[in-house]
Amino acid sequence: MGSVQIVTTILAFAITAVAVWLAVRAVMKMVAVIRQGQPDPTRFGDKGTRTKTMLAEIAGHTRMLRWGVVGAAHWFVMVGFIVLSLLVLEAYFEVVSPTGGLPLVGGWALYGLVTEWLAILGIVSILVLIAIRLRNRPTRPGGKSRFTGSTMWQGYFVEGIILAVLIMGFVIRGFKVATDHFEYPVWAAPLSHAVGGLLPDWDAGVSVAALIKIVISMTWLIVIALNVTMGVAWHRFLAFFNIFFKRDPGANVSGLGALRPMTSQGKPLDFEEADPESDQFGVAQVEQFTWKGLLDFSTCTECGRCQSQCPAWNTGKPLSPKLLVLSLRDHAYAKAPYLLAGGGKDLTGEEKATAAQLAHLDVLALAEAEKPLIGTAEEGGIIDPDVLWSCTTCGACVEQCPVDIEHVDHIVDMRRYQVLIESSFPSEAGVMLRNLENKGNPWGAPQNTREDWTKGLDFEVPRVGEVDDFEYLFWVGCAGAFEDRAKKTTRAVATLLNEAGVKFAILGEGETCSGDPARRIGNEFVFQMLAQQNVETLNEAFEGREKSKRKIVATCPHCFNTLGNEYGQLGGEFEVVHHTQLLAHLVATGKLTPVQPVDGGVTYHDPCYLGRHNRVFAPPREVLGTAIAGELTEMPRNSERSFCCGAGGARMWMEEKIGKRINVDRVEEAMATGARTVAVGCPFCSTMLNDGVNGKGAGEQVEVVDVASVLLRSVRPEQTPGGTDTERLPVAD
Ligand code: SF4
Ligand code: SF4
Repeated sequence: MGSVQIVTTILAFAITAVAVWLAVRAVMKMVAVIRQGQPDPTRFGDKGTRTKTMLAEIAGHTRMLRWGVVGAAHWFVMVGFIVLSLLVLEAYFEVVSPTGGLPLVGGWALYGLVTEWLAILGIVSILVLIAIRLRNRPTRPGGKSRFTGSTMWQGYFVEGIILAVLIMGFVIRGFKVATDHFEYPVWAAPLSHAVGGLLPDWDAGVSVAALIKIVISMTWLIVIALNVTMGVAWHRFLAFFNIFFKRDPGANVSGLGALRPMTSQGKPLDFEEADPESDQFGVAQVEQFTWKGLLDFSTCTECGRCQSQCPAWNTGKPLSPKLLVLSLRDHAYAKAPYLLAGGGKDLTGEEKATAAQLAHLDVLALAEAEKPLIGTAEEGGIIDPDVLWSCTTCGACVEQCPVDIEHVDHIVDMRRYQVLIESSFPSEAGVMLRNLENKGNPWGAPQNTREDWTKGLDFEVPRVGEVDDFEYLFWVGCAGAFEDRAKKTTRAVATLLNEAGVKFAILGEGETCSGDPARRIGNEFVFQMLAQQNVETLNEAFEGREKSKRKIVATCPHCFNTLGNEYGQLGGEFEVVHHTQLLAHLVATGKLTPVQPVDGGVTYHDPCYLGRHNRVFAPPREVLGTAIAGELTEMPRNSERSFCCGAGGARMWMEEKIGKRINVDRVEEAMATGARTVAVGCPFCSTMLNDGVNGKGAGEQVEVVDVASVLLRSVRPEQTPGGTDTERLPVAD
C-alpha cells in the first residue's frame, strides 16, 4: 500500500465511521418518534399480499409510472441507486489499492456491462429530474407549482449527490483504463474507456477518485442523518415500510373508499360505552395519530403530486395536502424530545410528566408542545382551521401519492376531535347536522315526503314489504328524494329499470340519510346513529338472503360508497352497485336499447366517490357510448385525475368563502370542450355544476344532467317521461 493509499484509506474509513454512527442515531430517533403514535393492529395482517403489493409498487413503479417521464426517470435512478451502492462498496477496495475491486463479481464482464449502462441511464435520468425540478421551481416566472412549499435545496442536494457519485464512478473507471488496471472490454464499458482516454496515467488517481466518491456519499449520509425530516432522501428507505403497512394491503390505491373507523388505543370506538375522559375522540395532539400516521408524515418525499391535483389548492384555498403533511411531520419531530421525556397531555388535558422530567428539556421542544394542533397563525396553530375545512375528501391526493400516504383519514381524524369535543366547525354546517339528527336528512325535509318523487310516473313503484321478490333494493338517497334536480334522475332511473323489466323496490319512508355527510365532517356519533338504523332496516328488508342476493342500487355515489364500503363496519353486508353500473349491464344484455343518439357533444364529469374512491370509471362511459352521437369528449382532467365539483367532505353544506369556487373551475373546463351536455353520475355534482353553469350565464347553452337522463332520452326519444329532465337534450335526426 503506497502513502497515497494509506491516507485515502484512513480518510475513507474515518468519514464512514462518523456517517454510519450519525445514521444509526438518526434511525433510532425516527423509530422512537414513530413509536409515539397510537397502536394500529390492523396493519400487520396478510403479510403475503402486503409483500407482493410492496414489491410491485417499488420494483414496477406502478404508482410512479402514472407520470410517464418522471416515473421512468425515477425508476432508473432508483435501480441505479440500489445497484450502484455496490460501486460505492467497491470504492472501499479502491482506496486501499488502485487495482482493487469487488470480490466475486468484480472483473466479470456482465457486471461491468450492467453497472456501466445503469450508470449512464442514471446520469441521463437524474439530469431529467433536475431539469423538471428547475422547470417547476416555485420561483420561476408564472408562480405556483407542485414544488411550492417543498424544501428545494434538499431536492437539489440529493439529486446533485447522485449525479456526482455516478460521475465519479466513471472517473474511477477512467483512471483504471488510463493505468491499464481495467478488466472490462470496450463493448462492456464504452464510456469508461472513453473517459480513460482523457485522463493521465496516474497510479494514485483511482484511490483519490474513490476517496472523493466515498466522501460525497458519506456527506449525503451525514446530511440526511442530521436532518431526519428530509423526506426527499429518507423515503428511499421508509417507502418500503409505508407501502407494506398501507391500510388496504391488496389495493393499488389505499386509503380511499371507506374511512378508517374511529379508534381509541387501537380499538374501534363504541359510542354506547365511549367516554371522552378515557377514550380518544379523533386527533387533537400529533401523538394521537397512529404510528402509521407518523410513518406517513416521515415518508413524504415533498414531490407535490398531491398538491398539483388538489381542488382546494388549485382554487386558492390555504389547503395543500403536501403542506399539511409537512406541517404535521415537522411538528411531530420538533415535539418529540418533549414526548420522549415523558411529556404529553392526558385526555382531560392534564400534563403527564413531572416537573423533574421536563426540567432539562430544550425550550424549543417545550414551546412546540404548547402549540395547538388546530389553530390559527395567531394562536400558533399547526394546522389552520381553514386548511382543515377546505378539504372535499375527493381523494386526489391519496390517488397521486407515490408512497401511499393516507391524507383523507388524517384530515377526518382531526375533524372528528374538532366536531365531537370542541364543537368547532363552520357554523353553516350546523343546520345540516341538526337536520340529520332530527329529520334523518340534511335538508330537514319531512320524512313523509320521501316518496313524492314517484308522483306522475306512469307505473307503480313497489315498496319493500309490499313485494318481496325484488332483485334490487333501489336506495333513493336524500338528494334523490328531496332535491328537485336529483328527483328527475331518480325518476329517470326508475323508468329505465321498469322499462328493462328489473324487479326493484324502494324503502320509501323507511330510508334515512346514509350518514356520509356526518361522517366526512367528523361527526362519527351521528353517522353511527344513522348507519345503525339503516343497517337494521336493510337487514330486515333482506332477511333470509345470502350476501350475493342482498343487492342495492344507488344513484348517489356517497350512499353507494357508504352502504357498500362502510356499513360492513357495523354489520351490514350488501352488494351495492351504482345505477350507471346496472344501466351499463342492462344495455349490454339488450334489456335497454338506445334508439336515437343524443347530439350536440357530450362530456362526462367523474364524481370522486364513484371514480377515484370506488374505481367505477368505465360503466358511465359505456352507457354514454351507446346513447350519444359520436365520441364522448373527455375533459383534460378525467378518470383518476378528475377534478372535484367541490361538494364532497360535507363541503356541500359549507360556504366557500376563500379563493375561486371549485365548481366554477370545473365548469369552465367542461364548457371549454364545447359539449352541450355535461353528464354526471352524482346528485351533488349535478347541483354544483348546474350552479356553475348558471353562474356563468350559460344555462341556455349547456345542460348538466345525469347519465341516466341521457340514456332515457336515447331510449325514449319521442316521449318525455313525466318529471324527468330529458326533454332539452337534443337528439340526432
Ligand atoms: S382529499 Fe382532495 S381536497 Fe382534500 S386534501 Fe386531498 S386533494 Fe385536497
Ligand atoms: S404526493 Fe405524497 S409524497 Fe408527494 S408531496 Fe404529496 S404526500 Fe408527499
